[in-house]
Amino acid sequence: MKTVWEKYDAKTMKKVMAFSEDYKDFLDHAKTEREAVSKSIALAEKAGFREFKDVRKIKAGDKFYFNNRGKSLALFVIGKQPIEEGMNILGAHIDSPRIDVKQNPLYEDNGLVLMDTHYYGGIKKYQWTARPLAIHGVVCKKDGSKVEVCIGEKDDDPIVEISDLLIHLAKDQMSKPGSNVVEGEDLNALAGSIPAKSKKDEKDPVKKNLLDILKKDYGMEEADFISAELELVPCGKARDLGLDRSMVMGYGHDDRICAYTSLAALLESEKPERTSVCILTDKEEIGSIGSTGAQSAFFENSVAELINVQGEYNDLKIRHALQNSRMLSSDVSAAYDPNYPQVNEAKSAAYFGKGISFNKYTGSRGKSGSNDAPAEFIAKIRDIMDKNDVVFQFTELGRVDQGGGGTIAYVLANKNMDVVDAGIAVQNMHAPYETASKADIYEAYRAYKVFLKEMD
Ligand code: MN
Ligand code: MN
Repeated sequence: MKTVWEKYDAKTMKKVMAFSEDYKDFLDHAKTEREAVSKSIALAEKAGFREFKDVRKIKAGDKFYFNNRGKSLALFVIGKQPIEEGMNILGAHIDSPRIDVKQNPLYEDNGLVLMDTHYYGGIKKYQWTARPLAIHGVVCKKDGSKVEVCIGEKDDDPIVEISDLLIHLAKDQMSKPGSNVVEGEDLNALAGSIPAKSKKDEKDPVKKNLLDILKKDYGMEEADFISAELELVPCGKARDLGLDRSMVMGYGHDDRICAYTSLAALLESEKPERTSVCILTDKEEIGSIGSTGAQSAFFENSVAELINVQGEYNDLKIRHALQNSRMLSSDVSAAYDPNYPQVNEAKSAAYFGKGISFNKYTGSRGKSGSNDAPAEFIAKIRDIMDKNDVVFQFTELGRVDQGGGGTIAYVLANKNMDVVDAGIAVQNMHAPYETASKADIYEAYRAYKVFLKEMD
């Protein structure tokens, strides 16, 4: 078989295309980790999940979610077996590379107002200039209120941009190495140019006017930027790519593509043997640390809550639950790109249309930092995937010593469970727009369903 497309009949093709429509809708409404959590909760509640609150007893088939500060989520479908016998876990991250607004961002320079930023995650900074950017996020005020912000997604919304130097005057810039073509401290977003009407000679009148607008529209003062989380992201919707509509281009495939497919699989789990879990985590792009990252005690605490109401509470049960669990840590893989074949080793590259990508290991410079999944566990995965006719490929992120990357796999593996990296191949990873194959999206979703149901 060359690609999975060859095996799809007309009926399956319809399902593949329809699944991607739902995925695109998710992407368009989940451009930040907070939005991804809100959208996931909405989908989960529609599927019969409820927040784990004041629960005294649980039984097989119950569906709960735990919401961690609106930025990460753990969802459970209780299995017939006690939780300490182990869970089947799907994990993915919902934060994506972007440009964050600083805490003291606004300044005026010769009649223009700019917002200072600090980028989040690994980006080629020059890719984020000269393009329409939307502002998504929250402003938290001292009185405890919170304003949700989303500017730039409606057709008649204003947008902001980070300017680029015109080619005519870019002689010096063009001779710099790619990493410095645009410097981090030069990522300043243009946000306004009309001065406030005022009789007296006011300092920074354009900034004053902009603050008046923010006050009127969002009830915020300049100081409220200090307790705001505002993210600049590419505006616009995810689109079909290719004249045959075989691919999706959109912002934030990494890693909402694995988050959505994992979530979709979990929402269909009904009374499984082993408890089914989906973890959607924040902060992967900056090291999985912090209260909402994969290294947080949040997941373990959620398991403890469930064990507490399942029967007699015992700390050892939590340890058993974790060590008897199996996990697919799902994150995007580097898709083979005919424009840059030299970075891959052909036998281990991930190809569009060849199904879900499993990576035994990730890391860099001799697998460093990687969870190198046990062969015994991989054998089981091969077996259940083959039995269910799921199309998969075993891949690596690029040639040896070409670079590399990490995922959340090692974090959960450190709790002594079996974890393997899985996911969907994308082109242009970490660019403002990334590309993935609809066939791989569909096969990943199928693989996740099989894993939840049949892994033991
Ligand atoms: Mn990722
Ligand atoms: Mn990434």
